[in-house]
Amino acid sequence: MKRRFKVVFNREKCKGCELCINFCPKGILALDPEVNAKGYHPAGIIDQEKCIGCASCATMCPDYCISIYQLEDGEEYDTSESQAGQM
Ligand code: SF4
Ligand code: SF4
Repeated sequence: MKRRFKVVFNREKCKGCELCINFCPKGILALDPEVNAKGYHPAGIIDQEKCIGCASCATMCPDYCISIYQLEDGEEYDTSESQAGQM
């Protein structure tokens, strides 16, 4: 079975520098149109299903805002904390 990953962002720590977005080989990260408490547009993931778990995003983030988890077989995505562009 294909391995699946969940990417979780700490949106309140994120400063919207876009490094993770620029280094994601799948192009599935984007800034949220809404700002966080610090006034930055935080990064989030658009399409969890396409994530290959390469961890480039987490490696590039200077503020350690990104965590990546491998999902168990049949486990569902909980995107409530990480989805970009959900207003
Ligand atoms: S783990 Fe890799 S593919 Fe998944 S969101 Fe991060 S950079 Fe993109
Ligand atoms: S690299 Fe880190 S601080 Fe920069 S936009 Fe991505 S999550 Fe936010």
